[in-house]
Amino acid sequence: MAPRYRELLDSLRREFPQPVSDPVHDAYVAFSVLRALDRVDALKSAAPILGSPVEPDFAAALASRVAGQGEPLERVISELVKHLEGMFIWGHPRSQVNVISHPSIASIIGVLLASMYNPNLVGDESGRGFSAAEVRATAMAAELVGYDPAKAGGVFTFGGTGGMLYGVKVGLEKAVPGCLANGLTRPAVVLASAHSHACALNVAGWLGIGQANLLLVPTHEDNAIELPRLADAARRALTEGKRIAAIVATMGSTDAFGIDDLRAIHALRDSLVREFSLDYQPHIHADAVIGWAWTAFNDYDFLANPMGFRGRTVRALAKADHRMRHLGLADSVGIDFHKTGFAPYISSLVLVRDHEDLRFIYRPRESVPYLFQSGVHHPGLFTLETSRSATGPMAALANLLLLGREGLQALLGHIVEMAEALREALEAHPDLTVLNGDNVGPVTLFRVYPPGNDTFTIKDRERTDAGFQEQLLAFNRYNRRVFELVHAEALAGRGVVISMTDCYRESDHGTPIAALKSYVLSPFTDENRMADVITHVLAARDKVDAEDAAD
Ligand SMILES: *Cc1c(COP(=O)(O)O)cnc(C)c1O
Repeated sequence: MAPRYRELLDSLRREFPQPVSDPVHDAYVAFSVLRALDRVDALKSAAPILGSPVEPDFAAALASRVAGQGEPLERVISELVKHLEGMFIWGHPRSQVNVISHPSIASIIGVLLASMYNPNLVGDESGRGFSAAEVRATAMAAELVGYDPAKAGGVFTFGGTGGMLYGVKVGLEKAVPGCLANGLTRPAVVLASAHSHACALNVAGWLGIGQANLLLVPTHEDNAIELPRLADAARRALTEGKRIAAIVATMGSTDAFGIDDLRAIHALRDSLVREFSLDYQPHIHADAVIGWAWTAFNDYDFLANPMGFRGRTVRALAKADHRMRHLGLADSVGIDFHKTGFAPYISSLVLVRDHEDLRFIYRPRESVPYLFQSGVHHPGLFTLETSRSATGPMAALANLLLLGREGLQALLGHIVEMAEALREALEAHPDLTVLNGDNVGPVTLFRVYPPGNDTFTIKDRERTDAGFQEQLLAFNRYNRRVFELVHAEALAGRGVVISMTDCYRESDHGTPIAALKSYVLSPFTDENRMADVITHVLAARDKVDAEDAAD
């Protein structure tokens, strides 16, 4: 009789894809995936979530232990699928929650293949053709943003946060040479707008620059950085003898799609070098994790408008592209395919305009004697990570191939068209007001008021009038209550899931201005769903008013 372990081993071997050709077993692999999908399908309804709106059960999760005996695959699948109960369906036509992709089939297959054959992109001896896929996606993206792909370099990393970490790290080495080897020997600062992503704080903190040395510069009403104040902050830092590790240009802010004037930031940087006779060029990192996709419009003929977008949409796309087309001026660019590229998490790329810049973060080859015994392509010599997955590059490559520029144009154009339709309808209603009216992207921030308020002047009073700040806070609470009602309705399959931000920006008096937020990113959104947003917000508003009247 075979020993116990052999019996178990034989059955466990069937739980892996077969290393040698076995088409019947491949069918079992594919069918197992299908079983999982089938179970998930049973959770779908008209609601933009899977199953019912249950909250995650953390107490039960905490009580889980490893059993002596494993479970059959069928049971494991059903256990896994249970965790999808209550999950949002980002691509649902009734979903306008946040900047999260609904991944394409092609990108999912990219992830699946990378998961099955499990390359490690640390170097090409383990990455093989997947390493070339990373280079391929990098070259395609480089050209898209306006870099020379032959001169540019880049690497996929752990999110837009990782992208900013790389960008600022390269900049820090330029500003404080030898920092990688000797640590931070001189004080350095990072400059970014007040609307830059919070990951800038992480980056400044984790790189040892210090969070206190992240200098946040106020923005204009369109949420783009105020150039004269950026110049002041930079001059002050340089006058105090500090080095500028990086200027971060936010190219599409998270909450409001604010786009900094990168061309002007670039000109400012060059004039600072002359003015202060700097022996280094302060590095410009473009945080384009959201905005990069708009570079697909760089060659779009906005006059002829071959895609046939509505006039308002063309204007919005052209205005965004007017700033995005200068992305090539940045020294490094962060791109998230999992934000506006219809790819699953995590698919993030950081590009440098000049691959020579990567030498600033190279480690000596001797530091990893067990790696790089063969092969020619070794990103592991400069990446922060050692093991790196190919799922991100494969997903990105899949979508760049699948969509092309036209595909990106059609998807983004549709999304902006939907957002514009919402803004138009909101502006037409006396009790609703759009806060980011200059906005040209997929996100709309708006507020609702009880009937009888003059919404033409109220948002200016909220922003500027010192005597109106109490009222502003009361309207914040009012909008929060409307949001809760709209949210509950949407989870029940009526209306649209939107989200809410507690502070889209501060008033001139430092009071947070909360806003309802519609983030359209689903290819499946249509005009009716945009109209639904308004209907359901107003119905919820009436309910809140009725509750107040009853008190
Ligand atoms: C989401 C976001 C980030 C962070 O990117 P992750 O991929 O979540 O790490 C950085 N900047 C902006 C503008 C973002 O919207």
